[in-house]
Amino acid sequence: MKVTIGFEIHEQLATKTKLFCNCPTNYREVKPNTNVCEVCTGMPGAKPFPPNQKAIDAVIEIALMLNCEIVKEPIYIQRKHYDYPDLPSGYQRTSLPIGKNGELNGIGIWEVHLEEDPGKYDPVTGRVDYNRSGIPLVEIVTAPEIHSPEEAREFLKELVKVLSYTGKVRKEGGTMRMDTNISIEGGARVEIKNINSIKGAYKALKFEITRQKNLIKRGIKIKRETRAFLEEQMITRAMRTKEQAEDYRYIPDPDIPPIVISNEKIEEIRKAMPESPRAKELRFVEQYGISQENAKIIASELELANAFEQVAKQIDPRIAATWFRDELKRVLAYNNLTFAQSGIKPEHIVELLKMIKNDEITQKTGKKVLEILVSQPKSPRKIVESLGLLKIKSEDIVEKAVEEAIAENKQAVKDYLAGKTEALNFIVGQVMRKTKGRAEPKEVLKLIKEKLKC
Ligand SMILES: [Zn+2]
Repeated sequence: MKVTIGFEIHEQLATKTKLFCNCPTNYREVKPNTNVCEVCTGMPGAKPFPPNQKAIDAVIEIALMLNCEIVKEPIYIQRKHYDYPDLPSGYQRTSLPIGKNGELNGIGIWEVHLEEDPGKYDPVTGRVDYNRSGIPLVEIVTAPEIHSPEEAREFLKELVKVLSYTGKVRKEGGTMRMDTNISIEGGARVEIKNINSIKGAYKALKFEITRQKNLIKRGIKIKRETRAFLEEQMITRAMRTKEQAEDYRYIPDPDIPPIVISNEKIEEIRKAMPESPRAKELRFVEQYGISQENAKIIASELELANAFEQVAKQIDPRIAATWFRDELKRVLAYNNLTFAQSGIKPEHIVELLKMIKNDEITQKTGKKVLEILVSQPKSPRKIVESLGLLKIKSEDIVEKAVEEAIAENKQAVKDYLAGKTEALNFIVGQVMRKTKGRAEPKEVLKLIKEKLKC
């Protein structure tokens, strides 16, 4: 049975001020209802400002990154009416499409537009916090071209990557909200609301497919309805059926002039925007001769990819890629950090990989230093020196020098074995010469004795 899935995804834009007023957007760090004004609390008669240009530019860039055409006709801001305590004006402002007919990962993007976030209502206490009210959101609507929860997860991961590449969405994460719609061959479309994470989307779809298939098996027809995803229980629950569907009574907002996007604006944004993660991945394979798999992992974060390119100028890219993928990503994942958050600099990695290449430290030490680097980003050489990690290497040198000294001074060895203990001092002296005094004489003596026992 063929499964068809589509998404509507909302993400907060990282502007300093709200969409239709100048209130700050740092709603998480301040007391409830402090970043508010008459506009974002929907006071009667309050006049909204024209839409925040930074938010418009961000949506244009996101639309271009998703390979959309940008709409050239005037784009009206509409009022979407519904009643809920988080929406004091009784309507949410939402633009008509800014971008259309895009594509990501082979999945069509129907449209990309701008919206304002409502406030935050707590049904338990009955309190509403309007700090979030009026924060700009981008909404991305996909074509129903996804056919499994796994494919949905892949698509969403790629989308998050693209959004983070633009740097135009909130860095702290956890602000993505989505609705998904799913239908199984022959059945009606079911919409699922309240999904807040990629994992949540995957679980909701898994649950819904099982639920619908079980109904079909029992001969029950799937009816068109809207369901809510209950994150904690990982299930969906009926919200309303088609008969109860909401009528949002959309009208253009008479207080706000339509957005008009010029060709110059589009070109200006196109020129300044980053290469897409996918294009970067392909270029890495081509330019540096690294594997597709490594390229994909390295391109998963823009800062990580940029660091790789800097390192690859000085270190064999294939060796660098292996370290980035196997070690650096492992350590970052273990510490639950992005590369940018870790504070590691490309120079640190160059220094570390050069020390390994020059045989100053072992691979094992290199891995250990990388683990330390994540919590204390500083010169790897300093880390190696402060922890005496070079000594591991010098022990090898000492051992090698001891072996050489024994091989080269057969007479002294013979004398020692014959009972002349002072012959040992001669061999120790030879080892000290070979190691340029970097060895510890007591250790050398011990080593020589051990070697001569067998
Ligand atoms: Zn305001």
